[in-house]
Amino acid sequence: MLADKDRIFTNIYGLHDVSLKGAMARGQWDGTKQILEFGHDEIIERVKASGLRGRGGAGFPTGLKWSFMPKEDPRPSYLVVNADESEPGSCKDREILRHDPHTLVEGCLIASFAMRAHACYVYFRGEYIREREAFQRAVDEAYEAGLIGKNNKNGWDFDLYVAHGAGAYICGEETALLESLEGKKGQPRMKPPFPAGSGLYGAPTTVNNVESIAVTPTILRRGAEWFAGLGIPNNTGTKLFQISGHVERPCVVEEEMGIPMRELLERHAGGVRGGWDNLLAVIPGGSSVPCLGTDMCQDITMDFDSLQKAKSGLGTAAVIVMDKSTDIIKAIGRLSYFYKHESCGQCTPCREGTGWMWRVMQRLERGEAEKHEIDMLFDVTKQVEGHTICALGDAAAWPIQGLIRNFRHVIEERIDAAQAARIAAE
Ligand code: SF4
Repeated sequence: MLADKDRIFTNIYGLHDVSLKGAMARGQWDGTKQILEFGHDEIIERVKASGLRGRGGAGFPTGLKWSFMPKEDPRPSYLVVNADESEPGSCKDREILRHDPHTLVEGCLIASFAMRAHACYVYFRGEYIREREAFQRAVDEAYEAGLIGKNNKNGWDFDLYVAHGAGAYICGEETALLESLEGKKGQPRMKPPFPAGSGLYGAPTTVNNVESIAVTPTILRRGAEWFAGLGIPNNTGTKLFQISGHVERPCVVEEEMGIPMRELLERHAGGVRGGWDNLLAVIPGGSSVPCLGTDMCQDITMDFDSLQKAKSGLGTAAVIVMDKSTDIIKAIGRLSYFYKHESCGQCTPCREGTGWMWRVMQRLERGEAEKHEIDMLFDVTKQVEGHTICALGDAAAWPIQGLIRNFRHVIEERIDAAQAARIAAE
């Protein structure tokens, strides 16, 4: 279990003073100038050495991503922070934004300095109005205290802008986010070019998740070895886990990477409603990753590699727990509707495929399909996966794949029961 002394987010529940004064009392903004004195490249090296992997879902090494930014370029460089947190089940960034915002403000300065950027944009999900207000207060405090802005105390001219989206899920995709930030319709761009080559306003840009940036000041203050010593190899450090659904006490909690799922649920969320034996399935990383059946949940650890090996994913570490009262076909069908609704419509496999998959899911829910359609549906998910401009196509395909892999018998039983009912009625 993560010791209190190793927590990065010390006010995640908002129990203490949120203001700059309170943040400083908890050790934030301590020695920021000295951190910048390490130099651009040394900071990137230290973040690489910490093993930090992006906390927005993909798990790409953060330091490596920063190193893709050009060192000499006539264009300005930008850091863009993705605070669009829209994945169903995910609710960690909002706690940072409203309760521990100075972790992010300080992180934005340090990360921007590392990438030679003098400006950073934080892009908020449309519904995060109070979170934006809380974060803006922290930004204003930092300006007033001379911690950021022109000629600030930390020695790197730096402006931090808060931008607010209009509430579209797809704007959480980094290039759609950039389009939206530029005032255009939020639709993903074709890649390449990647944002480090041509991002915001055609200039070098790195897009990072809120949590990825908010943890960097503490990593640099306490040392890369400290962070790398937490968690397990290749999956280092601490992570904010979000536990929702059929548990006794849904919560957001900071824990070490690699904690066993069962321990996470029982230690922090009061366990599965009705006991572990009442568990049906868990979606371990937000709605887009495939669900796991009970047998797999017993011993699995919560990290990128183990969950990928189990054909699921850590994603944003949003753990959605479903007990035996759940109609799992209906639950996954609801996710299919969500992705159909949020498709931006740019590419055919996603635009047509998400709607098609949702309609078949509805029929499977009612048992009104033929069994061979289960394989046909699986085939269609494979034709959507990996064949679209952005990862929304994958996100729509994976939950259905997880359902078919782990709960095919439930779908078949539903079809059998519906057929039997029809015959009895004739
Ligand atoms: Fe738009 Fe879907 Fe294509 Fe992404 S995969 S660009 S959401 S149509």
